[in-house]
Amino acid sequence: MRRKTRIDNARKRNEMRCPYCGAPVVLRNADGIYRDNSSNTMLYVCARYPACDAYVRTHPGTTTPVGEMANGHLRALRRMAHRYFDQLHQAGYMNKNEAYRWLAATISAPMSQAHIGCLGEYYCRQVISRSKAFLEARGVGIRNREEMSA
Ligand SMILES: [Zn+2]
Repeated sequence: MRRKTRIDNARKRNEMRCPYCGAPVVLRNADGIYRDNSSNTMLYVCARYPACDAYVRTHPGTTTPVGEMANGHLRALRRMAHRYFDQLHQAGYMNKNEAYRWLAATISAPMSQAHIGCLGEYYCRQVISRSKAFLEARGVGIRNREEMSA
């Protein structure tokens, strides 16, 4: 608990550090980072951006980050994990709630933390390979096969 409190306090004092390079983290709007920022999204961005492209958005209207900062590589991996994961319920083998239970079990986390946006590289790869195995075992053709074989 103590460690968590210290992290929360550091966050409040705006002393977040980039998990990739250790540079300070700046809270700013996503103009110039998002192609379209008409929704005026706020981001925590590495001060070395764009040399280091790590960032995380906030919950709308708050300074609370949605998960942990991610660089371009991790963001791409999360998008891929999401595409596989979405097919579990889109293929009709589970409803959305069951799919999120499956995700929680796959990443050994409570339901409250079962979000692809919170996953690091290891668990993204787990979600991808286990979703793939689940779908293949049922003979479901995986969409965007070429795109996702990377
Ligand atoms: Zn950085």
